[in-house]
Amino acid sequence: MSASPDRFAGHSAADWQARDSRHYLHPFTDHSDLTQQGARIIERADGVYIYDVDGNQILDGMAGLWCVNAGYGRQDLVDAATKQLQQLPYYNSFFQTAHPPAIALAEKIAELAPEGFERVFFAGSGSEANDTNIKLVRRYWDLVGKPHKQHIISRKNAYHGSTVAAATLGGMGAMHEQLGPMVNFVHHIEQPYHFGLGQGQDAEAFGIAQARLLEEKILELGADQVAAFIGEPVQGAGGVVIPPSSYWGEIQRICKQYDILLIADEVITGFGRLGEWFGSQHLDIAPDLITFAKGVTSGYLPLGGSIVGQRIGEVISSEGGEFAHGYTYSGHPAACAVALANLDALGDEGIIDRVREDTAPYFAERIGSLGDHPLVGEARTIGLMGAVELVADKGSLERFHKDLNVGSRCRNFCFENGLVMRAVGDSMIIAPPLVITRAQVDELVEKAARCLDLTAAWVASAS
Ligand SMILES: *Cc1c(COP(=O)(O)O)cnc(C)c1O
Repeated sequence: MSASPDRFAGHSAADWQARDSRHYLHPFTDHSDLTQQGARIIERADGVYIYDVDGNQILDGMAGLWCVNAGYGRQDLVDAATKQLQQLPYYNSFFQTAHPPAIALAEKIAELAPEGFERVFFAGSGSEANDTNIKLVRRYWDLVGKPHKQHIISRKNAYHGSTVAAATLGGMGAMHEQLGPMVNFVHHIEQPYHFGLGQGQDAEAFGIAQARLLEEKILELGADQVAAFIGEPVQGAGGVVIPPSSYWGEIQRICKQYDILLIADEVITGFGRLGEWFGSQHLDIAPDLITFAKGVTSGYLPLGGSIVGQRIGEVISSEGGEFAHGYTYSGHPAACAVALANLDALGDEGIIDRVREDTAPYFAERIGSLGDHPLVGEARTIGLMGAVELVADKGSLERFHKDLNVGSRCRNFCFENGLVMRAVGDSMIIAPPLVITRAQVDELVEKAARCLDLTAAWVASAS
């Protein structure tokens, strides 16, 4: 062995920060800020806590990036990876080969997925899985003799990943601006964001109206040109946008009426976040394809994929010939082995049941209490995800000026005070590991309240 086993030990935060800013191009980071302020260097983690290189303990209210569902520090997941790396660290599934971990995981996911989902296509990430979905729906319509059904409808402020096609599917303005001319068959409709777009309107009527935007778009493009609608059951990165309960039923009616396939991007809502294995089960959605990633391995290794419903699955696997698509790491054996151990843990230890029956209702009550804070216009949750909307005026719900960056301020106060809470504009976002306890929910809410106070004091001094 050439490298010392402790090659990461014994360096200061300042040392890491200097080396980081010289060499490491970060995802979704402003590099001039990074160079000036230095990155937060996270060194280890356990349970629901991360620890920075200075030893500060931070409650991870975001489960990494919505992925560490089973929590940090699980030896069973480490052992599953180690054992598989020893046995067969890599082999592919191209050209009629396979290996036990990928087969067993496909079978396990089919068992957990809603009725009528029997097949899984693996990718390395959620982005790759959504690229796969585009090809699957196009292949499907080709094979059933409707090759003109090519257009895909998505929503503003959706997040479906970062590859060119996935970023196009997504509705993030900043990403579109940097991308320039994009894949030309994607169209965006407005989102079911009641707090942001439906102030003063009845929520359920607003939900129906936002769903009908899909119908309008289909009629505009022509139903014979439209392949699919894609949506996150609950928009995550867009700011935990929880649709009114009328929304998905109406979307579904429209998809059925015009024969449009429905893709549920469950990269965040899959594997327990809403207290069921899939968000589609919680929200009563019957999609044709389900995108997954993140929680499938609790983030211990990268893995994503598409769960393929019977309608598409039967056609692709019986009359499709070769599906000319795949990734070197589709069904990576170690990632699949970790996923199997993770799904066992989430199920057998009752982690998801506990979310549904205990922690999610408690989380709703405690996060809801932040709604009383003078800085907060709305505090909402579903399962173990939530958003706290910061407003300049609690009465009129008027927002702060964008240039004040109040959300980022609040996020920074959180980090400095031992809590990860993410800012999407001035919406503060929370999605802790599913293993969080009631006492830790209390700790999260107390820290959040303190940081809201600090933010309010900062706002007062800045104006
Ligand atoms: C994170 C995310 C993706 C992208 O997954 P990656 O693994 O980062 O490529 C896709 N869809 C949703 C809903 C996500 O939250």
